[in-house]
Parts: sequence; structure tokens; C-alpha cells
Amino acid sequence: MSWASPASWRNQGGLCLPTKPAEWGTAGTVPAVQEPPSDLVVVGAGAAGLFASLTAARQGARVTLVSARPLAETASYWAQGGLAAALAEDDSPALHLRDTLTAGRGLVRRPAAAVLCEEAPARFADLEALGVRFDADRHGDLALGLEGGHGVRRVVHAGGSATGRRILRQLSADVVEQERIEVLDGRRVRALLGDGRVHGVACDDGRVVCARAVILASGGAAALWSRTTNPPGSYGSGLLLARAAGAELADLEFVQFHPTAVVGIPGREGFLVSEAVRGEGATLHDAAGERFVDELQPRDAVARAIHRLLAQTGEASVFLDMTAIDPARFPNVVAALREAGHDPATRRVPVSPASHYAMGGITSDLHGRSTVPGLYAVGECACTGLHGANRLASNSLSECFVFGHRAALAALDEPAPGGTAAAPPDADLTPAPSRETREAMWRDAGLERSAGGLHRLHEDPHPLARLVAASALAREESRGAHARADFPATDPDLDGRHSVVAADAATPDLVKWT
Ligand SMILES: Cc1cc2nc3c(=O)[nH]c(=O)nc-3n(C[C@H](O)[C@H](O)[C@H](O)COP(=O)(O)OP(=O)(O)OC[C@H]3O[C@@H](n4cnc5c(N)ncnc54)[C@H](O)[C@@H]3O)c2cc1C
Repeated sequence: MSWASPASWRNQGGLCLPTKPAEWGTAGTVPAVQEPPSDLVVVGAGAAGLFASLTAARQGARVTLVSARPLAETASYWAQGGLAAALAEDDSPALHLRDTLTAGRGLVRRPAAAVLCEEAPARFADLEALGVRFDADRHGDLALGLEGGHGVRRVVHAGGSATGRRILRQLSADVVEQERIEVLDGRRVRALLGDGRVHGVACDDGRVVCARAVILASGGAAALWSRTTNPPGSYGSGLLLARAAGAELADLEFVQFHPTAVVGIPGREGFLVSEAVRGEGATLHDAAGERFVDELQPRDAVARAIHRLLAQTGEASVFLDMTAIDPARFPNVVAALREAGHDPATRRVPVSPASHYAMGGITSDLHGRSTVPGLYAVGECACTGLHGANRLASNSLSECFVFGHRAALAALDEPAPGGTAAAPPDADLTPAPSRETREAMWRDAGLERSAGGLHRLHEDPHPLARLVAASALAREESRGAHARADFPATDPDLDGRHSVVAADAATPDLVKWT
């Protein structure tokens, strides 16, 4: 389904500066901003961007929401497993935090993870109040799923494995209804405006929008890798925009590989079979039919076990047995596989790992603030440090809502824009990766890396590929999602140390975050 945009989205009310390059002021400047028509620009209409926009609008703010791709091409829309929140009687934010810390392998920034775990139940309640209907059990109580790395059932779903789709349909309908939100869909932000303080964006159609602050909710970077579960637009464009505006990036070497993406079923290559399926009892088997891994371990451990087995055997896939699972629990997954001619109720599904989630991103604080005034980052493009070296399953949707909410409130305290803004650069700041770059990422910065491949990748033409290589080279240890074949042990001296790349640097410093 594409996100149909009503005619009102097309009006010009969101503009506060000249719309055509020919109208830029002399000497690379634009005229002073008198009365900014937007309080906030939000870049991206996935879970984080939609929720941030609605939060700000409900505070009475005027919001311009810019989105490059249709709703159905966001990672949020594709989310299957659900969102994690401590809602059960035998659960608590402290237990949720414990599991998040364990999965993050000594690199979780504890205050950020604590915020997530404490506030996720309230944001879940917000979603229910907005009209999202989460799945109930046969007694009418909220059905809570178990996923790898969670010690307690705490993952809520909507429509079985259609969680992202259900939530985004509701949020986008609310955005359409909200008069204070102007949606510019089908437009890509090509530069952030400002000098030392960000107060606007320039779009690829020449349009410019100014505001008190810009919230980047532009998604992750997992599609930089050739084998991925992500939509093609998730190649980290927001990270490059932020870097060009002077922001710090962090933890780029940490990219999670999902263990069970479909292999060799035509039309479904890379399609993700949710972790929740294993939580409900699906098992993994080698070509001889033997089980070889504890399926409920955190996903980096499961993914690496599969990767190593495949490297040893030369096989293309292992096999996920979901024949004992009720197909009604995962209607999306079952329907997608059946459409492709594969019935998971009777046959094991060939699967192998694929790049799935970027833990790293734009350094941001507990309110989504980047290191540049006026610029915020939330959702997968942000790095608060809450996931550490490995995201706990279903924490990312919760993160979108918790930090989307916080950032929207904080951003409204920024001063109104004034003075002149530098004209946006002509250069393309966010080039899409070529096929060669994506293959090089898979080969040289995949599930197991070593210095030789990373040095080669460091020469790649794509700027983000080079930064991932530099970050992975700097971390001479294995930890969570980052496995160095040449440094297989975890270095305790690097506990809590994040790889931080300053905007004017090509290589990271390993910095302790508190
Ligand atoms: C197949 C799949 C299943 C998943 N399942 C789960 C799950 O069950 N639970 C969970 O917690 N997480 C899950 N995840 C991860 C989770 O979905 C994402 O981390 C999360 O949805 C990211 O949301 P977001 O709002 O940050 O970005 P996205 O949803 O990716 O949205 C990014 C938006 O930014 C826009 N954009 C990007 N660049 C620009 C630009 N330059 N200008 C304008 N717009 C731009 C895009 O068009 C898009 O609208 C899954 C991910 C995938 C791929």
C-alpha cells in the first residue's frame, strides 16, 4: 500500500524562504527569516518521524514532515516482531533493562537504556489511545510474546506479524487528520541549513523549510550491505546529512545481522522470518536435519552460529522448521512464503543471515539532541548508546516512540530561527551506494571482519562505507555484533567505550560515555 497524500499536503504553507535556487540571496546567503511558519521539521515518516510529528503537533506546534519514500518502503512498515515494553505482572522496567544490558555486551549506555525501559509502557499506552489495537489472548488479555534475549514475555504485536504495518497505518491516518502537520511526501532532504545551528532543510525539489529545530528520523543504514532485510532507502542518508552539518557519528561498526532471512525462494530473497517465530518454538536445522544452536540466544550468537556452519559446509542456507507453529500467529510471514510457493506449515524454510539493524548512528543524548544545536536524531538513525553492541529484539520500535516523544518536546524549546542561512551546497551529500559498494560491505564488513578486508573497504568511494571500515578497524576486539576474526576476544578495556567520529575526522576515537 502506498501512502496516498491528500491535496492539502501539497500546499505551500510550509515555506519560509525562497523556493528556487535562482532566488537565493547574493554571496550564498538567503534573506532573513521573519516569521517561521514551522516550529519543527521532521525528516522521515517511519515510526519515529510520525510519532515525533504527532507529539509536537499535540503541543500546538506547526510541523513540516518530509518523507522521501512511500510509507510501505519504510523499515517501520516492515516490522514484524513487535515492540518491547514491561507490561506483564511478572515484569518490570528493571528486568527489561537487565536483558537490554546483557544483549548489549558491556557497551550499553545505561541512562539511555533506562529511559527506554521506563518509558516504553507509557508510549505503548499512547499508541493504544491513538487506536492501535494490539493482539489479545483468548481471555481478552494482552498477548505478550517471547523473543530471543528476553527473560520474560514482553513483546506486543498487532495483527500477528503485521505490527509495523498496523501501527504506521494508524499513525499516518492521525497525521493526515492533524491540521498542524504539513506533509511533503516524495521529497528528499538534500542538505541541512544553518551555520553552527541547524534551522532548516533544503529538499531535492529546491524547496527550503525553516524551523526552530530539525529532527532526523531518516532510518538506518543496513541497506549499505548487499544482503539485507531492509528497504533500499535505508542506506544512512541521515547520517551523511548530519555529518555534513557538523554532527558526530558513533558506533558505526555495530550492525546486527538477522539470523533468519529467506534464501533461494524466488521473489522473497532477504525476506525476514521474525524472531518471534523462534520464540514460539520454531527450530533451526542443518542440511542433515540436526539442530546446532540454542535458538533463543541473542541474535548475534544465533547469526554467527549459522554463518560459521555455512562457512564450514559451503551450503547456502540452514533450515527453519516452523511446521509446529500455528500459521494464524504469523499471517504475514506465512502468506508471503505461500505466495512464493513455499508452505512453511509442511516444509522447512531455507534461511541465512542478512544485514538488519544499525546500532550506530548520529550521536544523540537522552532527548535526541545531536552534537549540533538545533539538530535532533531519533529512531534508527540515532545512536544514544542504548543498544550497545547488540540490540535486544523489539527494542527499536519502542525506541522510536520513546525518543521520538522526548525529542519532539525538547526541540520545541529551541529558539526561533533568525538571520540568514548559508545556501545549500550543490554537491550530493547523500549518494546511494553502488552495487559494488554494497557487495564490498558484505564481503569486508560482514558477520566476521578482519584487518585485510577492512583496509580494502577503507578505500571505497562511498563515504559511509569508509567510515564503517574505519570504525571496525579501530575496534580491535570482538563484541556483540562486531566480530573480528583477527581479534576474537572481547577487550575489557573497551567496556563502555564508543567509537566516535567527529565531523572533521576520518577515523574514530574510542570514548567512554556516561
Ligand atoms: C524487515 C524488518 C523487520 C523488523 N522488525 C522489527 C520488530 O519486529 N520490532 C522492532 O522493534 N524493530 C524491528 N525492525 C527494526 C525497526 O523496524 C526499525 O529500526 C525502525 O522501524 C526504524 O524506524 P525509523 O522511523 O527510525 O526509520 P524508517 O521506518 O526506516 O523510516 C525512515 C524514513 O526516513 C525517510 N528518509 C530517509 N532519508 C531521507 C531523506 N534524505 N529525506 C527525506 N526522507 C528521508 C524514509 O523515506 C522513511 O520515511 C525491523 C526492521 C526490518 C527491516
